[in-house]
Amino acid sequence: MNIFKINPSFSERVWGGQKLNSMGYNIPKDKKIGEAWVISAHENGMGFAAEGIWKGKSVKEIFESNRTLFGNVQGSFPLLVKILTPEQNLSVQVHPNDELAKKHNDFGKPESWYVLDCPDNAKLIYGHTAKTKKELAEMIEKDQWKELLVEVPVKKGDFLYVPPGKIHAVTPNVVVYELQRSSDITYRVYDYGRLENGKPRKLHIEDTIVSTTVPDTNIAIINNATKLIHSNEYFSLYLYETSKETKPFKLIEKTGWLQITVIEGTGKINGVDYILGDCSIACDLNESSSLDITGNLKVLISWIKL
Ligand code: ZN
Repeated sequence: MNIFKINPSFSERVWGGQKLNSMGYNIPKDKKIGEAWVISAHENGMGFAAEGIWKGKSVKEIFESNRTLFGNVQGSFPLLVKILTPEQNLSVQVHPNDELAKKHNDFGKPESWYVLDCPDNAKLIYGHTAKTKKELAEMIEKDQWKELLVEVPVKKGDFLYVPPGKIHAVTPNVVVYELQRSSDITYRVYDYGRLENGKPRKLHIEDTIVSTTVPDTNIAIINNATKLIHSNEYFSLYLYETSKETKPFKLIEKTGWLQITVIEGTGKINGVDYILGDCSIACDLNESSSLDITGNLKVLISWIKL
């Protein structure tokens, strides 16, 4: 097995600030940083190996030059992990499914959130009330956002799966670990009338109406999510807490590589020191590969089922 830590990429956002510091990231000062792309091979925020035989190389290059060590998965690196620390509302948005994303020569974007921190009584925008596409179009046209958008209460430790076609938005001070397909196709339907450099950001009303699932899909929230939190054809997610588990983490599903993110504490993984915010990839796995996680750590581990 080969484990290497990754240096993240930071993105300035109109809704960002300096809060990523509290999640263990040393971000540029005086900038509105909203996102850390912590495990990424996407051109819009590339990750680079921080150590090991591939030190300094991009995750994209490592993956594409060593496919046999990554389960022989073809195509571009399929996953993206971000930490979001919004200080204002994110735009209300929806992502297309695979079929509708074809016009961009890209894949659809299933996404998911694990809530790392949030204020009391926090709510996320997660779904809509329209019964027909016509009703959806009319409510958007008439700016009936209060009636249209569904808000769900969330607490630290909740997990929400956001399938393509689900209208959603993260709200101020809800810090999330976001695991998603590595695709950057977002249709923005409402941006709270904000200006960026004096202009409103572009909206994608037509694409939103076509892409949104109507009537809405069910609400899928897991409270106090732990151990194997989620597993479908797009990605799996596991929360390992040293306070609750005594055995090393073993592969539960066949996969080509594991993605590791420390969300709390300090400790060691396979003998190497890890602190809050550290992220790594473990590849070159076999059936007996395991992660020996010790100390006082909470670690989110993600992968794709092969
Ligand atoms: Zn999204």
